[in-house]
Amino acid sequence: MSLVNSHLKQEILDCCRRSVQYGLNFNTQGNISVRVPATGLIAITPASMDYDQMTADDIVVLDGDGRRVEGERKPSSETDVHLVVYRRRPDVNAIVHTEPVYSNVFGVLGQPVEAVLINMVTYSRGPVPVMPFMPSNSTEFGEAMVKVLGTCNAVIWGNHGLMTVGADLTSAFRCNVAVETAARVQHAALCLGKPHVLDYAELNLVSAP
Ligand SMILES: [Zn+2]
Repeated sequence: MSLVNSHLKQEILDCCRRSVQYGLNFNTQGNISVRVPATGLIAITPASMDYDQMTADDIVVLDGDGRRVEGERKPSSETDVHLVVYRRRPDVNAIVHTEPVYSNVFGVLGQPVEAVLINMVTYSRGPVPVMPFMPSNSTEFGEAMVKVLGTCNAVIWGNHGLMTVGADLTSAFRCNVAVETAARVQHAALCLGKPHVLDYAELNLVSAP
């Protein structure tokens, strides 16, 4: 019997496959994890596996310190980054890292994805900042990145990809889709003119009860 609910591993796998269908990842790019609040255990995708080859049994389970407690595979090479996020953001129970084209365009330019669409209030909580390029497989990267992330739910890793977080996997995944969609819109709008970016007053208007 698995240490985590068997549905959870399947949900992670389904999100991985959807990330490819939606054009958020190609080949073995990206990684996803979920923390189980009751136990503190973390289920995470394995390193360097094609998503169409991956099964739910390939998902690795770690304790809160990153020790593998279930699964045969090596966990994602960015596991240390996930661990830092869970340590620093108790409100976060799911992390989705992808490498989508339009978010990466703005990451390469070092420009945030601005609050160009109202659904960013719900998902990213405003503009999406860019973390300057650093190799991403270390605790040091994670600590520097959570400073850039702050209380947002999304951050772009310069010259690499996008990471979104949420209270659960559904919200973290939807945030990933929302940010990449906003990046596409921002890119197209910049090609045609000067985009109207929602300011704080407008964002508060949308988020007001
Ligand atoms: Zn990556």
